[in-house]
Amino acid sequence: MAPLLSAQGLQVRYGAVEAVRGVSFEIQQGEIVALLGANGAGKSSILKAIVGLVPTASGQVMFDGRDITGAAPEGLAPAGLTLSPEGRRVFGTLSVSDNLRMGAFGLTDKDEIAEAWERVYDLFPILKERKDQYAGTLSGGQQQMLAVGRALMSNPRLLLLDEPSLGLAPLVMDQIFELIAKLRDQGVTLLVVEQNVAKTLQVADRGYILVSGKIVEAGNTSELTQSSSMQDAYLGAN
Ligand code: ATP
Repeated sequence: MAPLLSAQGLQVRYGAVEAVRGVSFEIQQGEIVALLGANGAGKSSILKAIVGLVPTASGQVMFDGRDITGAAPEGLAPAGLTLSPEGRRVFGTLSVSDNLRMGAFGLTDKDEIAEAWERVYDLFPILKERKDQYAGTLSGGQQQMLAVGRALMSNPRLLLLDEPSLGLAPLVMDQIFELIAKLRDQGVTLLVVEQNVAKTLQVADRGYILVSGKIVEAGNTSELTQSSSMQDAYLGAN
């Protein structure tokens, strides 16, 4: 079966810095794929390049049979591809429900928006309880849930998650990983960048190890767990 997403020879540059150096990978529908590597390895740059938040210096990205290299993010969300970026970028002075509304890219039909809200509130009942509160009054974990919830408002087929558990208390972190598994069960395909490697490998099907902008190993999670590249990738990091 053709992959849902594939990248061929993807390169990202920031001036003289070559952050991503010819990376190729693919994601099949229904998979949870992990992108692993130390700080600065280029993980966020790959996610941002996929959704057009940073320019692609060279290479090609295909999504659902379509060449989306360099496409603008606002066009991709309605097509089913959404990034939940690193850091809880919620709008603190907007209500929880208004924050979610902003993720409903391209939806104009009131019923569709109401359905999207309900879907997210089913996943995160705490957000429903707090829907009229300012997002800035939520705890860190709740803000992270809101950020993921906002990405889910566009009903993505492929969700790119950048460090969803960063800075969260262990119990809340567990909830995020439960959520990742639950989303897959609901039919969402996921590409996950995470610093919590052990937990990520528990939920993911496959992964890629990135060192200095290059993929040094690909495999299923048990292969990666035993891989010596894993040690190299995180040497001196974390
Ligand atoms: P982290 O976990 O720290 O986010 P990462 O693996 O996601 O790391 P990137 O954020 O993609 O890595 O960064 C890859 C390289 O590109 C690093 O050397 C970083 O300093 C550099 N970089 C990232 N963003 C920019 C930018 N806007 N301008 C210049 N250099 C950048």
